[in-house]
Amino acid sequence: MRVDKAAGTAAAKILLQAYHGEIKGGIFGIIESMPEANAVEGIDNEQDKLNIITAVVAIDYNRPADLLWKWARSLYDDTNTRWVFNFNMVKSTTRADLSKALQSKGKLRYGNKDVNWWYDNALILSNEFNGNPKSLFERCEWDVFDIRDMLEEFYFYGLKGPKIFPLWIRMLRDILDYEFKYFDKLPIPVDVHIARASFTTGLIRGQYQGKLSKNIKELIQNQWKEMCSKAGINHMDLDEPLWHLSKLGCSFRHKGGYTDCLRSGNCPIRELCPKGIIRVSNSGIQIDT
Ligand code: SF4
Repeated sequence: MRVDKAAGTAAAKILLQAYHGEIKGGIFGIIESMPEANAVEGIDNEQDKLNIITAVVAIDYNRPADLLWKWARSLYDDTNTRWVFNFNMVKSTTRADLSKALQSKGKLRYGNKDVNWWYDNALILSNEFNGNPKSLFERCEWDVFDIRDMLEEFYFYGLKGPKIFPLWIRMLRDILDYEFKYFDKLPIPVDVHIARASFTTGLIRGQYQGKLSKNIKELIQNQWKEMCSKAGINHMDLDEPLWHLSKLGCSFRHKGGYTDCLRSGNCPIRELCPKGIIRVSNSGIQIDT
């Protein structure tokens, strides 16, 4: 595969402008809005927002993010289940009660595994950090690398993962305005949407067939980081625009193997979109551009 930095830079600039409302229509109508931001919209209490984001992002994998964050908000809005976001209260209950409360608003994709991750993370936060993730950040002096090491040390589930850790930190920066040291050294969190958009923006081209492997994810992370550094852009700021481009646009490309994208008419970067095959899903990747 080869890298086209000029195409990546041009696409990144247009997508940032569109996402911040400087280009009419945004990214398929979306301007600065993510499912996690919608999930805490209108909540004033900082601790509640921090706890919701922390509890939910840990299980934000292999499932539709918008449904997950809507489910979380329904738990918060119901005063009978709001306690699931209070880690000290979770500690004083049982896994069975937690499971019952969580699944009262919809079945969890991974059932007991999700419940156990939620419960065990709450126990660690309650026992070691007064039930407050901010205490963990303060103990690490807000250094993202020390925070990641501490997550490893205490065996947190989900949060320390290569996709979820930068995603969590980015959400807290965007929603709670937390300032983390070395934030700009974090890799862009690569899920299926970021991977797809890395090909549809034209940043990475060529032929490939196989899994969305660790090597491919690292290639994507390194190329965005390098390209953005040269263009004076913080690569972490591209996470949301790329995610929306893929979810709302590129997911409709090449259905049935045709070379046209069903959403190209409203796409802010259609002129940069490479011709050819781009199929990216959790089960594999096929690229020929
Ligand atoms: S034209 Fe379609 S596939 Fe290409 S970048 Fe736009 S939405 Fe994605």
